[in-house]
Amino acid sequence: MSELSERFEPGVAKPAGEKIRCDACPVMCYIAEGRTGGCDRYGNREGHIVRLDALTILHHAEEEGGAVVPFLDAAEDWGGDLVNGGRRFVSAIGAGTTYPDYKPAPFIVSQEVEGVDLVTVVTEGIFSYCGVKVKIDTDRHIGPETATVRAKGEAVGHVTTGEYGSQMLSLGGVHHLTGGSKAEGRVTCETLMDLCNRKPVELSIDGGATVIVEAGKAPVIDGKTEHRMRVGCGSATIGMFATQWRGLVDEVVVVDDHITGVVSEHQAGKVLGWEDTGIKIVGRRSTPGRYFKVSEPGLGWGGTTISDPLEILGDWNPKKGARPGLSLMMVSTTGEQFAYFELDDELKPVEKPFPQRLRKSVDLIEDNCEPALCTVLFMAGAGGSLRAGVTENPVNLTRSVQGLSTYVTCGGAPVYVWPGGGITLMVDVMRMPENAFGYVPTPALVAPIEFTLRRDDYVRLGGYESEIRSVDDVLARGGEYRNARSASAAPPRNLWPPLAQLRRNGQP
Ligand code: SF4
Repeated sequence: MSELSERFEPGVAKPAGEKIRCDACPVMCYIAEGRTGGCDRYGNREGHIVRLDALTILHHAEEEGGAVVPFLDAAEDWGGDLVNGGRRFVSAIGAGTTYPDYKPAPFIVSQEVEGVDLVTVVTEGIFSYCGVKVKIDTDRHIGPETATVRAKGEAVGHVTTGEYGSQMLSLGGVHHLTGGSKAEGRVTCETLMDLCNRKPVELSIDGGATVIVEAGKAPVIDGKTEHRMRVGCGSATIGMFATQWRGLVDEVVVVDDHITGVVSEHQAGKVLGWEDTGIKIVGRRSTPGRYFKVSEPGLGWGGTTISDPLEILGDWNPKKGARPGLSLMMVSTTGEQFAYFELDDELKPVEKPFPQRLRKSVDLIEDNCEPALCTVLFMAGAGGSLRAGVTENPVNLTRSVQGLSTYVTCGGAPVYVWPGGGITLMVDVMRMPENAFGYVPTPALVAPIEFTLRRDDYVRLGGYESEIRSVDDVLARGGEYRNARSASAAPPRNLWPPLAQLRRNGQP
């Protein structure tokens, strides 16, 4: 009897009442009949260890961008009927694990695509070395760089360098998962899993704000939902819109935490022939019309602490153009805050009703702002043990991935593979099917991962040729962990991975 058929024989069940050991992670739970193990992913059913979530088979629309029609209700288990011949992809969601990978990955599936025999190795990876990178689109200051980020009071990560219009968090990683207290590891794991499964998570930042982060949704900062991502810094905003303001107002200040812009002094204003206004900005002048540090970072105008924009203005200089009646618009980088002033006889700005003629230009700033979202990227390193489930010579898999011979996906979603050693990848959780992530109490995250490559390449790199099965066989017989099978539509925008692999190999 071949090793393959042995693995899929029903086997002799342990007598009822006897606990059996799950070997799918290092915890090695003993599980009694009818109960589940420490992670709720495996259970003892009639004396067998069973992977309790169904193996998810994704159905891709035939044409890119075409309508996706599920071929079974997502909740319905696969009945064994081969009713659909469309583009199917055996994802690793619900596949099970072979940790430590002394045996081949749970599913190694072949498909012929446009005359090329491709193999996809499917496994649920257990990632202790993993985390998430969170991008929060907001101008607001959510906390100083390197400040600790907490969930339920436990340290789960830190604030990292801000990007243009976004604040960034780096959460998880091996030090929080395994290097701190038990509670820290448990909460970190739970936080990562919830974020990756697109659930809302409340995070508090030491010396900063409390943020509710949910992938694909607007951030909620200190109880306030953010709506817009800024159009650019104050200087960029001036560059974009100076033409629109010409002739409508004498001076424009775009208030921003990073670079506050002044149109009459700015290069864009000079080119357009703006007159000097004798304005004085309290801040550190960088280049003409560009000021740093007009305020501390905060939750006010343009990510400053300012609620009254006049705070950043000094005395107006009549020798340089200040005069009674001179008009001034002040606006933030999202266009959410704006005000209009005119200088009185003492050259003091006095707020006046916002004129209709300037409305359009403020609306234009707002229109150019994209919706503020939270983006969650799962980042992990596929370690040697996982790679051993793919090939007997694990480094060959790394070389093959780095050499673009092997296409990596997570739940069918394309990933970014970092250059350099190892298989360190990032994937946007919004491109993965929902609830694709699990955990084990070591603690570590469990994430689906698939490797697709040409069959001959797979054999050449030391792959488990005798374990290769067809998609139909997987559908009909399941796997070692008696996985139920369920079908669901692939998330739109993801190319069918076997086809993506072919195109990557330069096929038409
Ligand atoms: S924690 Fe889960 S995967 Fe690990 S041994 Fe227990 S049941 Fe199996």
